[in-house]
Amino acid sequence: MGEKLAVYGGPSIRKDFLPYGGQWIDENDIQAVVDVLKSDYLTTGPAVGRFEQAFAKYVGAKYAIAFSNGTAALHAACFAAGIAKNDEVITSPLTFVASANCILYTGGKPVFADIDPATYNIDPRSIEAKITKNTKAIIPVHFAGQPVDLDEIHKLAKKYNLIVIEDAAHALGAHYKNRKIGALSEMTMFSLHPVKHITTGEGGMITTNNKDYYQKLLQFRTHGITKDANECFKYDGPWYYEMQYLGYNYRMTDMQAALGLSQLQKVDIFIERRKKYVAFYNEAFKKMEEIICPKQMSGADSSWHLYVIRLNLERLTADRKAIYEALQKENIGVNVHYIPVHTQPFYHKLGYQSGICLTAEDIYNEIITLPLFPKMEEKDVRDVIAAVNKVIHFYSRKDVE
Ligand SMILES: *Cc1c(COP(=O)(O)O)cnc(C)c1O
Repeated sequence: MGEKLAVYGGPSIRKDFLPYGGQWIDENDIQAVVDVLKSDYLTTGPAVGRFEQAFAKYVGAKYAIAFSNGTAALHAACFAAGIAKNDEVITSPLTFVASANCILYTGGKPVFADIDPATYNIDPRSIEAKITKNTKAIIPVHFAGQPVDLDEIHKLAKKYNLIVIEDAAHALGAHYKNRKIGALSEMTMFSLHPVKHITTGEGGMITTNNKDYYQKLLQFRTHGITKDANECFKYDGPWYYEMQYLGYNYRMTDMQAALGLSQLQKVDIFIERRKKYVAFYNEAFKKMEEIICPKQMSGADSSWHLYVIRLNLERLTADRKAIYEALQKENIGVNVHYIPVHTQPFYHKLGYQSGICLTAEDIYNEIITLPLFPKMEEKDVRDVIAAVNKVIHFYSRKDVE
């Protein structure tokens, strides 16, 4: 028994470090960017339009508007939705800070609703409990790529007259009840960061079926300026443009868009590979009582951005930190998604207390993200499985007793 409690160590399963995520760039992607570099346009030009059209078609939306990054896209969506001072917007605490920061950018107030422990997605019952007369919108996050319960959320939105902006940073190619994510709510945001399904380096996209939102988003992306004579209050001549509200420079470059368009051709292949590796993980871990595998709900077809395991701490002699560190020692690039947003020092300073979303706070202490990305090889997946087996057996209470 004493030996069992020894410090974790020994030779690593892997010699080189396996990251938890990352892009897959091929020669076609490189050539697409080089072609733009040799063309007349570097900033927003014809490639952005082509990428937007192809993206809108892929998700089944009327419009897609490209942004310099996903956070800028979320900011623009909050602006287009009319979020302003004192408006409350409900979102998940178990997400990247951008999902809530975008509300603050427009002067609104993020309100955190707790998550469902089965899916780690925002719980519609918790949303309803947080709705007040000031609530204006909901930003649900499709955690790890598994769609939230959109029917329930849309029911609430209808009942209380709220706008729904989906944070689909993890959910490109995911389906909810056989409908692709991207055209099911007022607006949907996608991120094109290298760890997400496809990448443009930095990049983001909003998809919508609503022309008003579309025009606002376009204008917000470029300083609140329009050049469309029909949209202007007055018209001085062909040089004329009008700045009608305070926008930003949130434009995507043509180099990024060319990369995005090339990447988009491969998105379904990327997702298939992710799904194959998820099946390997599920099969390998299903009998291990020390860990809880991610569950896919009926009606949800996840695009598997992340594979998050939850530790059953009662069956382990170590906490999450020790297990995380042991996996790192095996050269497996584990991660944690996410530190609940309301527990960040900045949010504490704004007055958010720990304890307001107990499920998210508890689960945070028990989760570890395993590597999952399309460029991984089956050998990499086997290494992760071997490392998890080694670490979990080392710290298993069953093995100790
Ligand atoms: C990545 C991400 C974003 C923002 O994306 P950037 O493109 O990095 O700005 C927003 N929300 C979630 C949940 C994300 O994972």
